[in-house]
Amino acid sequence: MTIHRVALLGWPVSHSVSPHMHNAAFHHLSLSSWHYESLPLAPDELAQRFSALKHEGFVGLNVTLPHKQRLLSWLTLDESARAVGAVNTVCLRRGIGYNTDADGFLDDLREKGVEVRGKRALLLGAGGAARAVAWGLAREGACLGIWNRSSASIQSLQGSLHCSLKPLQWEEVLAWKPELIVQCTPVGMWPETDACVWPDSLPFPSGCTLVDLVYRPARTKLMERAEQAGSRAIGGLGMLVHQGARAFEIWTGKTAPTDVMRAAALRALET
Ligand code: NAP
Repeated sequence: MTIHRVALLGWPVSHSVSPHMHNAAFHHLSLSSWHYESLPLAPDELAQRFSALKHEGFVGLNVTLPHKQRLLSWLTLDESARAVGAVNTVCLRRGIGYNTDADGFLDDLREKGVEVRGKRALLLGAGGAARAVAWGLAREGACLGIWNRSSASIQSLQGSLHCSLKPLQWEEVLAWKPELIVQCTPVGMWPETDACVWPDSLPFPSGCTLVDLVYRPARTKLMERAEQAGSRAIGGLGMLVHQGARAFEIWTGKTAPTDVMRAAALRALET
């Protein structure tokens, strides 16, 4: 039996829920020759080990920090990886690098019935996740505003994404009337669960939808504030599951069992 190995490449990778999600999916679909493992690789080990992975039986990879940009020059790039400027999924058999974050984010919004076209969407943060979300939302016809603590990151994002993004200060945010707010910073993530990026002095808008990309904890301080203000709050687990499902489909060619993956991710996050 040919073994199909898939790995999460990063440094460190010990807290990831991806092995739980994907191994549950392989098991559910009786893909008994498939196995997903964590592969911690320090930056100075990456080049040498990467070239050997195919011979070691690896067919696919997920990629996380700090290797997401480094792989760009070693692979043929799908449009998603080129546009986002980072690889989070690799099909080693075809030598193609993808970024499934944007589509994973949009799949989750679609599943939850959140309309995007023509809506004013405010991004909080301008790092890698914001870049993927901005590219996805721009493709779907949203009108984008962005707040970030440093203007340099906004400029770098504007320079490489080729889509219109309106930089906003906190004082301008309410007058801009956002209909969708996407929280793309790590603020509020475990263990700093009392932190909230939205200033105490600024009321959270009512009647809009917040997506907080943080998934640990399931309900962040910012999500509480949004709900108290009469807005809808969605956490980051759905995007995590759907970006994983997209990767699963790239490797196996099979429809991902998203319910099984969600349940496995939830179990892993609870432990
Ligand atoms: P990143 O590339 O390091 O970017 C971090 C961003 O957050 C930057 O814009 C940074 O601002 C800002 N930031 C960091 N600390 C801050 C603070 N204390 N106050 C205000 N802004 C702060 O990280 P990333 O990869 O985009 O990830 C961001 C978050 O999204 C993480 O929590 C990650 O787990 C989550 N995420 C979730 C999913 C999912 O599937 N749900 C997928 C991807 C990422 P500067 O530019 O000023 O440094």
